[in-house]
Amino acid sequence: MVWISKSDVISFWSCPLCWKESKEEQIQEFVFPMWVGSMVHDFHNFFWKGVRLESGEVQLPLTPDYFMKNKLVSKYILNLVMMELNRWEEIKKLNNIDIEKLFYPTFIEKRIEVSSEELKGIVDRVEWIGEKNYRIVELKTGRCYLDKHILEISFYKHILEKKYKMNITEGRIDYPTLMETKSIIFNDEIMNRTMDIVKIVKSKIEHNDFFISDENLCEEHYKELKEKGVI
Ligand SMILES: [Zn+2]
Repeated sequence: MVWISKSDVISFWSCPLCWKESKEEQIQEFVFPMWVGSMVHDFHNFFWKGVRLESGEVQLPLTPDYFMKNKLVSKYILNLVMMELNRWEEIKKLNNIDIEKLFYPTFIEKRIEVSSEELKGIVDRVEWIGEKNYRIVELKTGRCYLDKHILEISFYKHILEKKYKMNITEGRIDYPTLMETKSIIFNDEIMNRTMDIVKIVKSKIEHNDFFISDENLCEEHYKELKEKGVI
């Protein structure tokens, strides 16, 4: 048996041979950090540590100086700030006694796992959306590739429900610009597909089987196997 993470599932499902190579590289040499991604995640922590709700207004811990120093992620930051201000306006309309609880994420960059199934990951954000319902938010710094991202948040939904007994009813995927942000309403079809993929990937990794089908190989590995006559 072997533990698998969200990244394993996504990477293996995209191309099992790329996954295998990345694992071998990790053992041999230092892997370059995804530094833009890290900056956005760092900012996110900073944002939620510093943000204060005072006299009904959101006080953002941002100065023009911060934007100057972090030009590369400023587009992303502005998107996040806009989204949180909009969300705050919506929350205020609810007349809920727990508006602060509703505004602040329940989890930020939280390491989650289900040991009985050997599944793990780090969820970017989980927000309470009223009553017993929660939303998963995933931050993306790259370009839009929705199908893969739905798989990611569904993987987290499964762990959060199993481990924390949370009722995850929706998901949101935030891209660097507001226009690209996607909301997902989960259903059985999405969850069944996700768990089928997780089962396949887990079993293949456990059995050292690095082949799924023509569709699940990157162009480079597809060509390589074709030339060798394997497929
Ligand atoms: Zn590949």
